[in-house]
Amino acid sequence: MADTLLRFLFRDAPVRGEIVRLQASWQQMVANHGYPEPVARLLGEMTAAAVLLAANIKFDGALILQIQGNGPVRLLVVEVQPQMRLRATAKLREAAVIDADATLQQLTNPTGAARCAITLDPTGRRPGQQPYQGVVPLAGESIAQVLENYLRQSEQVESRLWLAADEHAAAGVLLQKLPQEGGAEAKPDADTWDRVGALTATLKREELLALEPTALAHRLYWQENLQHFEPIAPRFECNCSRSRSGRMLLALGREEVDSILAERDDVEIVCDFCNTRYAFDAVDIGQLFASGATLKPDASTRH
Ligand SMILES: [Zn+2]
Repeated sequence: MADTLLRFLFRDAPVRGEIVRLQASWQQMVANHGYPEPVARLLGEMTAAAVLLAANIKFDGALILQIQGNGPVRLLVVEVQPQMRLRATAKLREAAVIDADATLQQLTNPTGAARCAITLDPTGRRPGQQPYQGVVPLAGESIAQVLENYLRQSEQVESRLWLAADEHAAAGVLLQKLPQEGGAEAKPDADTWDRVGALTATLKREELLALEPTALAHRLYWQENLQHFEPIAPRFECNCSRSRSGRMLLALGREEVDSILAERDDVEIVCDFCNTRYAFDAVDIGQLFASGATLKPDASTRH
């Protein structure tokens, strides 16, 4: 059940492609969250898309794909850390009612003001240094359409994107036209873009979810002249920790934390991404605020 990202070039034309299929990592990301089916599907499509986008960028840092919603879903976040370490989460409004066939717009954008943001956060960012962020309106019937528009308008790369997700897998295909001067030395084939786009559009959702990327590439493009790159294995990893949770409590302030402790035995921070629970009792809280920011790093809770 290996998760695979496959990248390839069409040798006869300036077109590149990527196929991703996530199973183990995706199942870990949704385990114990109880997301309604349309929410899980949307988050899965975003996760596949984030992997496809991250694989295209020569950049040392994290790619974060985020939708700030104004409907029943108020937040969807996917993070791709270096070496394709993934995590994702969705936050629903309190008592949200979600139909089984709810659309992207119904879930996240009833007011029409929702945005989709793509952030590139460099590793070792200095204090005050801003990450790069591209923001687009959430216009379209699917996250694939939203991102195709983003790539065309903001990145000026003609792109086609197919995404699918269910409870078992999240998968996607990205095709991009490269600038004419790169590649295509041998025998430029102007029709390749249209042809491979039409071939990929014949793909059924079930096929995209069921087939291994290598098998899928063969199935779709067996008549094309492909150059494959070494496949990459994305994996789930959450970088939450007890010491990070402690810093969140320090940021809340002693008074606020004490007021929580007055009502219960401990203060609990639950990671939105992996559901790990970090509990701090009165003794822990006393130590935490006594030691302030000089917390010992805690390696025990990395996945
Ligand atoms: Zn976590």
